[in-house]
Amino acid sequence: MASVEPNTTIKEYQAFVQEVYGLSNDRYFSVADMLANVERFIMRGLKGIRKGDREKSKINLLISFSWFISMMNQLHIDIEGEAWKRFPYLCSYCAACPCSCKEEKFEERQKVFVNEKKRPKTLEEFQNMFGKIYLPEKRSIEHAGVHLAEELGEFSEAILTYRGGHKDEDFESVELEAADLFSCFMGVFNSLGMSVAKELSIMFSKNCHVCKNSPCTCNFVDITKFKS
Ligand SMILES: [Zn+2]
Ligand SMILES: [Zn+2]
Repeated sequence: MASVEPNTTIKEYQAFVQEVYGLSNDRYFSVADMLANVERFIMRGLKGIRKGDREKSKINLLISFSWFISMMNQLHIDIEGEAWKRFPYLCSYCAACPCSCKEEKFEERQKVFVNEKKRPKTLEEFQNMFGKIYLPEKRSIEHAGVHLAEELGEFSEAILTYRGGHKDEDFESVELEAADLFSCFMGVFNSLGMSVAKELSIMFSKNCHVCKNSPCTCNFVDITKFKS
């Protein structure tokens, strides 16, 4: 049986997703198909924000996040490593913690220095780190949601460009944008006041959250018609 623990690391969660959904993903979905699913469930999550429905936001953003991790598996991206490189307990743009982008108005991205000693271990610690860099009390949940949508757009653009030319430098943009999108998932959950790791451990206490099998045996029609 595969399950997610509340103290899961990002790497462990990525391995869980591979174990449960790797087979189904490989047989049914291309990278572009998976991106459509990331988008589809983020949008439902944003609808939850617009309607003030926290449960709707939670379930859909968790599903979207899991599709995103499936994409990371298919592209062989170590998202924990990428997130840490981009956000080493500092804002990736102003290189401060907490972020001072609003006050400083830098014209260009500041150099970030990585202090390995500060590296969070678990997914929860990563989420807490993002809460320290981007203070949830300084912005509304709608603001965090719009930022998530923006980064989803940039990630999609990077995927489109890479898939057009298959250039290695374009793949680097995919990795950077994936880290940014990851940070925004954490940002919205910080605004919701929910722990991603804890919620994933409830959702994935036993294998696939829908069919309860590992590997997942949900059929394609059920996946594409999933209501949430
Ligand atoms: Zn900043
Ligand atoms: Zn399933």
